[in-house]
Amino acid sequence: MTTWTDPVPLAWIVAVVNEYGTRAREAAGERERPYPSPETLPEPPALAGRLDVPALREVADRLDPVFAASTAEAAIDHLDGVLVEFAPLTRVQAVGGRPMLAWQAAAGMPAVLSACAITLVQALGEGAGVRRLGTCDAERCGDVYVDTSPTSTRRFCSTTCQTRTKVAAHRRRRRERPTSATTASD
Ligand SMILES: [Zn+2]
Repeated sequence: MTTWTDPVPLAWIVAVVNEYGTRAREAAGERERPYPSPETLPEPPALAGRLDVPALREVADRLDPVFAASTAEAAIDHLDGVLVEFAPLTRVQAVGGRPMLAWQAAAGMPAVLSACAITLVQALGEGAGVRRLGTCDAERCGDVYVDTSPTSTRRFCSTTCQTRTKVAAHRRRRRERPTSATTASD
């Protein structure tokens, strides 16, 4: 068993889902690409310790549906399922003489997955600015993101994907626009 108090950083969760998740890798045509080394992930939580690639793949695939869910209710349902399955125990620890909530679960993947689910629940429920979770709308990209925009209108994982999509849409419109007597060069 392992006990933790600190939340897992959202940036780490997003990176794990994008780098190790089956759906995101397939959407990007990266199914055969080697997995990155776990040490390259941003803000690694101490809890993640030495999770190997198969364990990270499982964490990613278990959390991906929370981002890919079409409604908030479906995402919440999925988080609840993870917590029911791995059943982290709520504990309380004395930190500087004051009580602090802590959680306990089987060490390794179960603890990491539980901690990630708790982070996502907190981020969505009481989080600083997190509006919703989503997946990138760009072609050949399935990366997930955390939407902190005030209007909850984020559609892309990155400005790269946003620009790429805008440029493609512009080209498509130009191609489809009926031209006069000239023939298209492409
Ligand atoms: Zn993207």
